[in-house]
Amino acid sequence: MFTGYFIQKLEEGVGKLRRFYLVHFREDYVRAQLELRRGECNRCGDCCSIMFKCPHLDGDNSCTVYECRYKQCAVFPIEPWDIKFLRHRCSYYFDGEGPPNLPDVQETRNTAGTNNAATHH
Ligand code: SF4
Repeated sequence: MFTGYFIQKLEEGVGKLRRFYLVHFREDYVRAQLELRRGECNRCGDCCSIMFKCPHLDGDNSCTVYECRYKQCAVFPIEPWDIKFLRHRCSYYFDGEGPPNLPDVQETRNTAGTNNAATHH
């Protein structure tokens, strides 16, 4: 159990570093990946709590720096790997995958206590 949690946090950390690298040094690759991305942001806010809760979220889980948010936030998710641990909430998917079978997002927002998330796109 602890091992699974540790591995997930490790993967999340590697993902954060990878996205930082990609948006700053592999812009062409990011553009190509975004062409493969399908779906729309449902504003669940889960990507703002990968590994830890973003310090720029306010008490309502809204992004306080939205207009000048980090590049890697603005283009999330870049690759299927980015949403590996968010598949029950994130409504994006990539070519080759089917659309996610999500529960009612409003319902999950309420039960998770994240009633308003940062808007990403
Ligand atoms: S990109 Fe949008 S839908 Fe996906 S986890 Fe982030 S807020 Fe939720």
